[in-house]
Amino acid sequence: MKGTSRRQRKQKDASGNYISSASSSSSSAAATYFDDATEMTADGDNEDPNDPFENTSRTFLNSSITGSPRHLKEMARNCLVACTEVNGVDVFITLTCNIDWPEIKVRLFPGQTAFEREDIVCPVFHERVHAFLHHLRTGRYFGGGKAIFDCHVIEYQHRGLPHAHIIAKLDNGPTKEDADACKAWVETHVQTTMPDEDDADYYSLVNEHVIHHCSSASNGCLKDNVCKRGYSKTTPTLETSFDEKGFPTYRRPTINDRFVRAYLH
Ligand SMILES: [Zn+2]
Repeated sequence: MKGTSRRQRKQKDASGNYISSASSSSSSAAATYFDDATEMTADGDNEDPNDPFENTSRTFLNSSITGSPRHLKEMARNCLVACTEVNGVDVFITLTCNIDWPEIKVRLFPGQTAFEREDIVCPVFHERVHAFLHHLRTGRYFGGGKAIFDCHVIEYQHRGLPHAHIIAKLDNGPTKEDADACKAWVETHVQTTMPDEDDADYYSLVNEHVIHHCSSASNGCLKDNVCKRGYSKTTPTLETSFDEKGFPTYRRPTINDRFVRAYLH
């Protein structure tokens, strides 16, 4: 709605807000002109706080409209405040969509790929995310620890597949002041090693889905031939350690574990 023409006719609704009478091809929601100059300047996106209706061609969607920039900003602020209230979170989890999930494969027509059927992929991913969150809250992972707070956001990769970033505070999370307890907790609940090759199914799953592949593409991880995500180290990391901000460097004790991303099992 940003950039809507100032020639739109405007009229006041019952509450005093100005409502655009022009229809928009991009949204069925009416554009609301705020009559609260203070709120407009709070986001720093108003050109003239003294006369917001006549001296600007910009329009703004109310934060009550799901997906609008103000709504997303409000959600982000709420999340940051909630994280502070619970004294920080314990885990950051990324859940990626897998086009080999049976719920997706069984619904494709012959010759189709999942990339052509977002009407299948998105609902399946949505259900998977909520199933995962349910398990997270009921203690299926992390040794029975239940999430007492969680928050997530869904993003889309370049080829269209969604992934969710999830943060959570656990009721059995480590005490951050105790470095040894933190290290023991991470090494117990987060896997960063290749499984035994005798467990063929598990080994092939890890090998297929959890290995980091360095890339020299423009948005890749290699810079001056060094992986900026720290995966190309030639020496094993025998113990988990934490940097000054509390982020872990995971234990990867053998040369085969160098490119294993942290995963749950
Ligand atoms: Zn890399």
